Amino acid sequence: MSPSAFQRNILAWFDQHGRKDLPWQKDRTPYRVWLSETMLQQTQVATVIPYFNAFIAKFPDIESLANAPVDEVLHLWSGLGYYARARNLHKTAQLVTERGSFPDNLDEIVDLPGIGLSTAGAILSIAFNKSHPILDGNVKRVLTRFRAVDGWPGNSAVNKKLWEISARLTPAERVADYTQAMMDLGATVCTRSKPACEACPLSADCLARLAGNSSVYPTPKPAKILPVKQLILLVLSNADKQILLEKRPPAGIWGGLWSLPEFDNVEAARDWCFSRNIHIAGERMLATRRHTFSHYHLDYTPLLIQTDNPINFVMEANQTVWYKTGQINKLGLAAPVKRLLQQSHTEIK
Ligand code: SF4
Repeated sequence: MSPSAFQRNILAWFDQHGRKDLPWQKDRTPYRVWLSETMLQQTQVATVIPYFNAFIAKFPDIESLANAPVDEVLHLWSGLGYYARARNLHKTAQLVTERGSFPDNLDEIVDLPGIGLSTAGAILSIAFNKSHPILDGNVKRVLTRFRAVDGWPGNSAVNKKLWEISARLTPAERVADYTQAMMDLGATVCTRSKPACEACPLSADCLARLAGNSSVYPTPKPAKILPVKQLILLVLSNADKQILLEKRPPAGIWGGLWSLPEFDNVEAARDWCFSRNIHIAGERMLATRRHTFSHYHLDYTPLLIQTDNPINFVMEANQTVWYKTGQINKLGLAAPVKRLLQQSHTEIK
């Protein structure tokens, strides 16, 4: 679908189904458009309407908003959420009042507190009838589906691509209606779940609808990729079937708990045994397991070493103990270590 066909379809749909009686669509001034667009950030139209009406009743123009105490503004905003918007609204009202009029170009508008590129685009197109693209949540949803754009829209390369698509599709004429139509289409037809594709003016060429996978767009934010640390946990058992436990330092992970000696690799674990005259009578690795902390994954591989020495090698006082695996419940152990010892109980017997 060419940009002009896209625009024709969108505008024809708007003429028939678009919202034309919203309070901020009457008497369209930059003040009213900016106020409504700020309220509409992350908030649905039905929620915004009574707040918009109350604001306009109290502050009919930007000067009255600028001259009001900020507490009064916050009070009127209360219940709408994201209160930084109300503070920014007040600051912007003061800056615009000082300046004398609402700016009508992108650079100056985005310089005002609380106005991002998409809100600026909406103000320019709706209030000043200047052709500027927008990319709010609704439009992102429509465009990612229509063009099957993969990748989380918060990613800068994906965001750039979506802005380019939005810019290419934005018309030079009737831009106020077009902008309103795109927002309406996302809010009422191309909804998050169960989009009404049969009622959509883009359905003939929508790649997501044709592939039957509109629900996969927009790609959700990827789960944080945590770094992985690897280590060897030494399960050293003696001739009396006891396991050697070490007390961990008070700070850091598993601080102050009893755990197993840990090493970067198997050689380091063996060297540690040799340096303490621990004779290795048998050795076996168990499968690697994963324990996830908030900031990293710990992949630990249990190394089972049996020693047949009498227990006479030197250990740090109070920092190491030999323990029967059957008695470990009496100790403060890190949860994965406890699990491992319970599982390896049979291996050690
Ligand atoms: S056809 Fe369906 S998925 Fe595609 S833009 Fe329209 S409503 Fe959204």
